[in-house]
Amino acid sequence: MPHTAIVTGGARGIGAATAERLARDGNAVAVIDLDESACAETVGRIRSAGGTAIAIEADVADTAAVERAIDRVVSELGAPTILVNNAGILRDNLLFKMTDADWDAVMSVHLRGAFLMSRAVQAHQVTAGWGRIVNLSSTSALGNRGQANYATAKAGLQGFTKTLAIELGRYGVTANAVAPGFIMTDMTRATAERMGMSFDDFIALNVQHTPVARAGTPEDIAAAVSYFCSEDAGFVSGQVLYVAGGPRA
Ligand code: NAP
Repeated sequence: MPHTAIVTGGARGIGAATAERLARDGNAVAVIDLDESACAETVGRIRSAGGTAIAIEADVADTAAVERAIDRVVSELGAPTILVNNAGILRDNLLFKMTDADWDAVMSVHLRGAFLMSRAVQAHQVTAGWGRIVNLSSTSALGNRGQANYATAKAGLQGFTKTLAIELGRYGVTANAVAPGFIMTDMTRATAERMGMSFDDFIALNVQHTPVARAGTPEDIAAAVSYFCSEDAGFVSGQVLYVAGGPRA
């Protein structure tokens, strides 16, 4: 059955691939990102493939912007019942150099963003008696040098996911998390630059520690999200699926 899906941070990377995958699965997709024009390529690709999509500009950490975005989804695509909390940022630094702003920015987008979006969307899911929430965690949730803020946020999202699963299950709503390992996107490209490495060298370094001996693609993650959003996954809730080419980061 087709649903209305929302993917945050859908302008590029994992969010774009996920929006396209959910559209291919038959859903109408609202692509939310900080800049509406940045969503144009994702929306264009979905429409050229015969799907339905709209672009919406919103900062997921801003309560009023989130409410306006959900109102637009309802009026243009119908009540949303699938939500993928994918928007994310990095502000990496070793603890002794990490600023208050680095900490707050990461908590704000990942945790406050997922909270505001989920609180707004669950009202429609509960009314429909069906829903799917998928949160993007990370192997960094297990701990990662230079990422005290990001690792904390990604571990926090796992607790958030399990709590949503417990609270919303009786309304036909599941909540799960996908925790990617190294995925080739602008985010990891920027990390390579910060480390003074070429992206190719950074990929090679990560592949060395990956049992399946390749780097992950946004489509690898989109496939896992698609499963959690499917009818078939209705008895799977509160789970964290590491999609990392092996058992650990
Ligand atoms: P990306 O290429 O940097 O894309 C992230 C998108 O989120 C960007 O379009 C960004 O917009 C948007 N965004 C940032 N802050 C936002 C906000 N406040 N409101 C709305 N949109 C916002 O990242 P990615 O690599 O695809 O990662 C997607 C998710 O997967 C993130 O949650 C990330 O933490 C997680 N993840 C990624 C990897 C990996 O290896 N790539 C691994 C584990 C987990 P701007 O371009 O305007 O900033």
